[in-house]
Amino acid sequence: MTETILKVEKLKKWFPITRGLLRSLFSRRELYVRAVDEIDFEIKEREIFGLVGESGSGKTTTGRMLVRLIEPTSGKILYRGKDIVSMSDEEFKPLRKKLQMIFQDPYESLNPKMTVFDILAEPLRVQNVAHGDEIYERVCKILEDVELTPPQEFLQRYPHELSGGQRQRVATGRALILNPEFIVADEPVSMLDVSIRAEVLNLMLQLSETHGIAFLYITHDLALARHLCDTIAVMYLGKIMELASADSLIKEPLHPYTKALLAAVPVPDPTSKRAEVTIKGEIPSPVNPPSGCRFHTRCPQFIGEICKKETPSLVEIGSHHYVACHLYR
Ligand code: SF4
Repeated sequence: MTETILKVEKLKKWFPITRGLLRSLFSRRELYVRAVDEIDFEIKEREIFGLVGESGSGKTTTGRMLVRLIEPTSGKILYRGKDIVSMSDEEFKPLRKKLQMIFQDPYESLNPKMTVFDILAEPLRVQNVAHGDEIYERVCKILEDVELTPPQEFLQRYPHELSGGQRQRVATGRALILNPEFIVADEPVSMLDVSIRAEVLNLMLQLSETHGIAFLYITHDLALARHLCDTIAVMYLGKIMELASADSLIKEPLHPYTKALLAAVPVPDPTSKRAEVTIKGEIPSPVNPPSGCRFHTRCPQFIGEICKKETPSLVEIGSHHYVACHLYR
C-alpha cells in the first residue's frame, strides 16, 4: 500500500501588513494578506500532486511552507506523521535533505558567482553527507541524471554560461543531490522557452519514477497539470475549491471555478465535459476576500445569499473527489 508522505491540516498563512498606503488607510485595525486559509490535503509516496490556480491564489506560499521556507501562521504539516511546523531548527535539519524545492526562475535561484560544481556540491557540504572524491562523484552522477553530459563539460561553467533549460536542469540536480523524498516544483518551466519545456517536464517525470520522489507541482496551467499530475487541487484566494484525481477532475469537473478554468483550455478529449462558462475580472484582493464563498463575486453559477454568507466546506462528492461549493450540499 502506498503511504502518505505529507499531510497538511488546516494550514494557514496570513501575512501582516505593517506599512504602506493600505496600512495607513486602515490604521485602526490589523490588516493581513490571507494568502492561505486553512487548507487540507495529503500527498502519497511517488505521487505528483498538482496545485493549480491563478496568480495570487496562494500556491507558492503553500509550497514554501511545505519545505519550511515560510513559517505557517497555524496548522500542521505532517511529514511521515511528524509535524515539521512544531520542530526546532535542530530537529528539522536532518529532514531538510528530504524536502527540497525547485524554483520558477533558475537564473535567480542559482548563485551567479558559483560554478555548477560548487552549486551542486554545496548541499552535500552543508549537510555533511559526503567528502573529498565522493563529492566529485556524486556531482558527476547527478549531472548525468539530469542529462547534462558529459559532466566534465559543465562542472566549471557559471550559470550565465548555460541555456535556460540547462540552468533548470542544474536547479533540478541541486534539488535531487541529497536524495529527497519530496520536491516542491514551483512553475519550473514557465520561464523556459516553449521548445524545451517538454524536455524538462519529461525529465522530471522520469526522475519521479526512477528516484521514487513525490512532487508538489505548482502551476497556473491546468492543461499541463492534467498530463503531468496524478492528483490536482484547484486553489482560489487561499482556499482549495476542488481536489480529485487528474482524470476525474478533467473529465468530471464539479466546481464552477474549475469548469471556467477548463473552458479556457483546449482539451482534445471528446469525452471531456467542457463548460460554456468564463470568469470575468481579476481575482479579488486577499487582504479583504469576499465573504462566504470566495468565488461568489465571479461565479457564473451563483445561487444566492447562501454563497455570500456561508463558506462552503470541502466535502467528498465521489470517490476521492472533493468540492467546496453550495451547489453540492
Ligand atoms: Fe458559485 Fe455559490 Fe458554488 Fe461559490 S458556492 S462556487 S458562488 S455556486
